[in-house]
Amino acid sequence: MTALNASPPVALRVSPAAERALRQGHPWLYESAIVQQSREGEAGDLAVIFDRKGRFLAVGLYDPHQAIRVRILQQGTPATIDEAWFQARLKAAAALRASLPAAGTDGYRVVHGENDGLPGLVIDRYGETAVFKIYTTAWLPYLDGLCHALSPIAGCQRALLRLSRRLVPSEPTDEGLADGAVLFGPPLQEPLRFRENGLVFEADPQRGQKTGFYLDQRENRARVEKLALGQEVLNVFAYTGGFSVYAARGGASLVISVDSSEPALAAAKRNFAHNRSFPAVAAVHHECLLMDAFQALARLAADGRRFGMVVLDPPAFAHNQEQRSRALGAYRRLTSLSLGVLRPGGVLVQASCSRPIAAPAFFAAIHEAARSLGRPLRELERTEHPLDHPVRFAQAAYLKCLFAIA
Ligand code: SAH
Repeated sequence: MTALNASPPVALRVSPAAERALRQGHPWLYESAIVQQSREGEAGDLAVIFDRKGRFLAVGLYDPHQAIRVRILQQGTPATIDEAWFQARLKAAAALRASLPAAGTDGYRVVHGENDGLPGLVIDRYGETAVFKIYTTAWLPYLDGLCHALSPIAGCQRALLRLSRRLVPSEPTDEGLADGAVLFGPPLQEPLRFRENGLVFEADPQRGQKTGFYLDQRENRARVEKLALGQEVLNVFAYTGGFSVYAARGGASLVISVDSSEPALAAAKRNFAHNRSFPAVAAVHHECLLMDAFQALARLAADGRRFGMVVLDPPAFAHNQEQRSRALGAYRRLTSLSLGVLRPGGVLVQASCSRPIAAPAFFAAIHEAARSLGRPLRELERTEHPLDHPVRFAQAAYLKCLFAIA
């Protein structure tokens, strides 16, 4: 099979520190680490990195527009980057997720970027639709090849493209591809439906947050279902009601979904409707509160409302180191506000997707806030990444969640 890119690769020499990092399997080469370069490269060119003695070190995707100049495809032994190479990576990724379809799940992350050996590329699957989300335009020349390679593995009938925010989503790319473009298959007329642990959800992969659904919270949602029996559950930052529907199927007596997005809550109501075949979902009383989360928690406390479970799954509060301490303050405030509506013995479920905040600091902040209110928490479980969002290098870890009795 021939290589997918006809241009000759860019040849690079790099600093000793970068050489060490690459040998250890780090997936990024920064611009600042390049000491010698054969030519100016274009986005999507292959870059071959040689060590001091001129031996092959790694091959990756070159992007002149980003500080991460090369994203490593393969390290150690040379390879032709062709459809067969992609297929091998996709097959390995599929093997890791093989247990999901049998559990009634056909919406999950098929490829988690660097952590599945395809750096800067996410592929999420919603039933028969694959959503390619790219973090570098270096992937554009390879999308056709990837679609071909993916079809026999995932059996997809449609593929869509999402561009990361950094790639100026309002402007079509040079290839004429815009955020939300259909790469192959029929156009998408309405939100599509998929299954997660037997529940039916809808997602709008062309306009929704992330690729349409927070697939990374699937395992935590299932944990909430197991703890929900007979409880009044408050789901804060509910988005389209993922945790809410699970709590309902788990036998919650009441579920309240709080979010500041009107379309998200409208979809949450529809997601309850999609699951009426489950008697517990059909029977539950579900309310939506279109409000700021902090204000909603304060208002519910003032009104004397009390719950047996509070779920907090906010958006990332910190995107860089400078935002860390403010973000930790916001997590502490959320814990305190939640304890104001949580019955003694109730369950607090608090998650964070802030990358700069490591799990120990996050868990410590929650405990500190609870202790200072005289309500020390008893931990049930600390969770991190689900199986379809593997973590293969330190910077990839972002998700953590505490389950505790208040
Ligand atoms: N738990 C959800 C995902 C939550 S994503 C799931 O399992 O699918 C974070 C959500 O917080 C988004 O829906 C966003 O609209 C909402 N949000 C962001 N800031 C908010 C605020 N200040 N008050 C209420 N909701 C907010």
